[in-house]
Amino acid sequence: MPARKTEILFSSTRCKTKPVGFSEAIEEGMASDGGLYVPDRLPRFSASDFSRQISIQELAKRVLGAFSERDALSGSIGSICDTAFDFEAPLRRLPRETAVLELFHGPTAAFKDFGARFLAGCVSELAEKDSRTRTILVATSGDTGGAIAAAFHRKKGTEVLVLFPKGKVSPRQEQQLTCWGDNVRACAVNGDFDDCQRIAKSALMDPWWKKEKRLVSGNSINLGRLLPQIIYYAKSSLEYLNESGENAGYIIPSGNLGNAVAALFAKKMGFPIREVVLATNENKALPKFFETARWEPMPTVATLANAMDVGAPSNFERLQWLYPDAAQLRKEVRAFSVSDELIRKTIRSGPDDWGQVWCPHTATAVHVREKLSTPHWVIVATAHPAKFESIVEPLIGREVEVPETLKSILSRESRFDVIEPNLQALTEKAK
Ligand SMILES: *Cc1c(COP(=O)(O)O)cnc(C)c1O
Repeated sequence: MPARKTEILFSSTRCKTKPVGFSEAIEEGMASDGGLYVPDRLPRFSASDFSRQISIQELAKRVLGAFSERDALSGSIGSICDTAFDFEAPLRRLPRETAVLELFHGPTAAFKDFGARFLAGCVSELAEKDSRTRTILVATSGDTGGAIAAAFHRKKGTEVLVLFPKGKVSPRQEQQLTCWGDNVRACAVNGDFDDCQRIAKSALMDPWWKKEKRLVSGNSINLGRLLPQIIYYAKSSLEYLNESGENAGYIIPSGNLGNAVAALFAKKMGFPIREVVLATNENKALPKFFETARWEPMPTVATLANAMDVGAPSNFERLQWLYPDAAQLRKEVRAFSVSDELIRKTIRSGPDDWGQVWCPHTATAVHVREKLSTPHWVIVATAHPAKFESIVEPLIGREVEVPETLKSILSRESRFDVIEPNLQALTEKAK
């Protein structure tokens, strides 16, 4: 039975649970031993497998289809990809043998739209299959919740609960969390982001939530958000190779490390990626690891690139799984920390040096590019600068034009509940 061999199963990075199929890994979010799901093998491709004109949707079907073969969702992956990847991820040429991969053309103008939209397609399809509504819970300090809310808004068979710390997100971020209505509900928690995360974690372990509400985690540890991020690396690396005859290196603004791990998956799967460099803000656990070989998560420091304010990146476990040999990992991947001061400087000189307005996250990668003397780099632009106008506009001395998608979000009416920082308060709202 050769077909049997093609099925990929997913196991925990901590190896203490039984492997599960694609849908189950998505519904479970995290393995029961506290580890993260990883595929038991990676499908292999090479550049010659793909025509030069392949669309992002066709590429997504091929690659994500390979991960979901023989799963309950395998027949639906095509239509899920058509909907999830219905906007572009253009690769634009810049000076100095550099390109920028713009991942901010989705509904909430940040790369998280890719993962959120694919997850929404999968969860909605699973809900339709057994006619049971799923509840998606997401704790957010800003960007994640907006992408999840937008992606699941009016998706059949789904209800969304977004938890955010009251008064601790920017006005534009709050608008993106609270403007949806219908099946999306936003709860402002009287507390900080850690309280939101604690409530989400206890709900995910609570029998009532699990059984009655069919709870699914919308946070970035979910494999359903990680795997679709492989696609834009696959697509852009093929494009770069076709245009220049070279394999590009990628510089990726990193926080929780989901985006960079997806790039390393793409590299291991055979896509033409020369190397991956991580750019972080002043949260230095990763650069320190590459410097000293010691992994020491640290308390989170607040920076201008706030979607990367992570002291203990949870996807580090997946990185270790991908490179069991730490010496090999430290040889193949590099990481650099960029201070707020340098983020400001890079944004200020962006229009003159590159003809670009950068968001604070992307600016970390741009600064790293400026320090590297070798050619052929792709800077990964994770968000549109208009999302961070209060930082960017004073530095460049003019307004940043707001993309249409963001404009329509900003014009909607906003509504949210306020809850005390405990699970019981959330349960009462949900009953
Ligand atoms: C979430 C986010 C990041 C960090 O991505 P990780 O996958 O957590 O490393 C970087 N930039 C922006 C704009 C983000 O929203």
